[in-house]
Parts: sequence; structure tokens; C-alpha cells
Amino acid sequence: MSELAFKAGELDAGDGLAGVRSRFVLDDVVYLDGNSLGALPASVPGRVDDVVRRQWGELRIRSWEESGWWTAPERIGDRIAPLVGAGVGQVVVGDSTSVNVFKALVGAVRLARLGSGSGSGSGSVRDELVVDATTFPTDGYIAESAARLTGCTLRPVTPERVPEVLGARTAAVLLNHVDYRSGRLHDLPALTDAVHAAGAVVVWDLCHSAGALPVGLDAHGVDLAVGCTYKYLNGGPGSPAYLYVRRELQDRFDSPLPGWNSHAEPFGMRPDYEPAAGALRGRVGTPDILSMLALEAALDVWDGVSIESVRAKSLALTDFFVECVAAHVPEGRVELVTPVAHRERGSQIALRCDDAGDVMKKLIERGVVGDFRHPDVLRFGFTPLYVGFGDVERAARVLGEVLR
Ligand SMILES: *Cc1c(COP(=O)(O)O)cnc(C)c1O
Repeated sequence: MSELAFKAGELDAGDGLAGVRSRFVLDDVVYLDGNSLGALPASVPGRVDDVVRRQWGELRIRSWEESGWWTAPERIGDRIAPLVGAGVGQVVVGDSTSVNVFKALVGAVRLARLGSGSGSGSGSVRDELVVDATTFPTDGYIAESAARLTGCTLRPVTPERVPEVLGARTAAVLLNHVDYRSGRLHDLPALTDAVHAAGAVVVWDLCHSAGALPVGLDAHGVDLAVGCTYKYLNGGPGSPAYLYVRRELQDRFDSPLPGWNSHAEPFGMRPDYEPAAGALRGRVGTPDILSMLALEAALDVWDGVSIESVRAKSLALTDFFVECVAAHVPEGRVELVTPVAHRERGSQIALRCDDAGDVMKKLIERGVVGDFRHPDVLRFGFTPLYVGFGDVERAARVLGEVLR
């Protein structure tokens, strides 16, 4: 046995989260793509079967009340809340991340113009929307449309440059907690403070951080946040996203998509819109109950698991992967894109490699699943709930074989 394989065995033996893996349906593939689609929690199939056969098949319309369908968006929001450092009543589940980015950004510009940013705000014309230029494409597309709709100029800048472009004209800022390509973790507390000092409203996209590391939304005074649930939260393909609206802003949050589900009296069927109180103001139309309740079942895997322990293991896994890659992969064949410093690292390792597309195909054929991001990035996501140190050593070893 090699020295690294021995070390992997020791690390696995001391891993307090090792037992959580059995809460998932897995095989002997090394699955390092949980940052794209989380693995299936074992509790989901039975629950979905019950939702379909009994709740829908037998109770039918009664399930909106009796099976708790109507209140599922807030109830499941409250289950996600502790994972992102939010108190109850501030997270609502529904729609895709893209749609929630739209709600949050237009809502943020409207809040900023009410002078409701944490800074002084009122008086100046706030007509700039700042967005991370390196963001996942959908966030950029939606930001461009939100800017056009609100009469703002879009200012795409790299996250490092955000503080220099903030000013009296800034209305809202859309940032990613972790960059989807590089795995870089941005400084949420410092950037949130900088946006507030300019009197603007901040929207954080948590797609690549929620479920992988502590976020601290309440502690850091974040205004609005969105995130998906099918990556580190394992909700299943297309499971609904969530929207966080800080409690103090909820009364003034003016959604650009005011559907009947967010009406103060949804069954009053009134012609005029009057928003409900609380986070459920972020709801729009009828929730996608089947995927929403699959997500609820998926969240059972977090019982008794702290996000701090997940973060500690995530850093240990990514450190060990970097060490194993250095040992197994021929010098100069790949370049580490993800920052080495823990405070700048999410839960993935990205490696630049000329023939990355081909290399990933070969890895997958050999039972190591990561993904390829155009044009030259190999991406490996580490979900601490089900990835072990032996998996890490094997992935790096197989990568070395492919590249040799
Ligand atoms: C995964 C991801 C999305 C996904 O958006 P959908 O609307 O769910 O397709 C959006 N933004 C970021 C930053 C992501 O990583």
C-alpha cells in the first residue's frame, strides 16, 4: 500500500462524518460532482412514493391542507435556514435560482431607492447595478435584464474590484459566495459591509456555498440571498431554489413577481394585490410540490450534522486532494486554479489542463466523476457528507494514470 493510501485510511478512520455516507444511495464510483448534482439521499424514494400514491393519489385536493402542501415553501425554508445562518421566517423555497435572482435584484434596486439600504441612501439617484463579471452566466443575463427594467446601468466587475466601483449611484450588487469555476470563496462579511457603507443593497448567490460551508447570513447583515438546492443540499434534479429576505427588509421588499401565492389573502381572489407579511412575500405561483417534498426528505441527511464539521472535513478533503495530485500527476501537466488559502477556498478543486474535456471523459470511464468547464477546467466537487479520503486518493491516482 502506498504512503498516501495508508494516510487516506487513517483519515477515514478518524472521520466523524464517515457514517453519514450510508444515508445516501451510492456505488463504488468516486462521485466528485455533488457541486453540480448532489447524490440521492436514501430517504427520498420512499417519501416521494408516499407523496405521489397517498397524498396525491388518495387524499387529492385535501393534501394542500392535510399534508402541508400549502405551507411547504416556508416550512422547508426554515429547514434550510440554519445551514445558511438564518433565523426562522426569512427563507422561502420555490422557483429556480434564475427566477430568484430576478426577484432579488429588482427587489434590491427598489429597496435601495426607498433609502432602505443599511447606509444613508436617500437623496441620490441610484442607477447602477454592480455584478460579478466572472459569474455563472444565468446570473449575468438576469442582471442585465433587471438593470434594463429598472433603468440602471450594469457594471460588471471582478469581485476584487467591487469596493472601488461602489458609490452614491450604486443601487444593488450581485455577488457569488463561491465562484462556480475556480472554487474561490469571496469575503462575504467584508463585501457586505462595503456595499452597506455605500448605502446600497447586496444580493448573495449561495449556489456553491450552502451546504458546504458556514454562510452566516444573519450575523453578517446580508440583505437578500438566493441559492439552489440540487448541489450541496442534494434536493434532486431541478429541485426548487430559495430566497432569503432579511427580516428588517421584509415589509419593504417589493417583489417584481407578485403572484397570488404571496398575497396577504390568497383565497380572497381579490383584484388588487396586497403582499403578505414575511418571507413568503417571495412566493409567486403554485409550488412544484413533487420536487419540493423530495427536497424536504433530502434534508433529513442533515439531522445531527453541523455545518462547521462539514466545513472542517471539506478543507481536509481538498487539502488532501491537492497533496495527492502533486504526488500522482506528472509535474506541469495541470495547474491549480483554486486558491490554496483556506479562507479563499470553497468545497471544490479546479485544475486547468489543456485537454480537460478528453481527460474528464477518460476519468469518468475509469469510475471517477467530476466535470469539465469550458474551455480548459477540470472541476472536482467534494461533498463531505459522502466523499471519503480513500475516494480522494483514488481520484488523484486515476487522474495521474490518465495524464501519464
Ligand atoms: C448552479 C447555479 C445556478 C443555477 O441556476 P438555475 O436557475 O437553477 O439553473 C445559478 N447561479 C449559480 C452561481 C450557480 O452556480
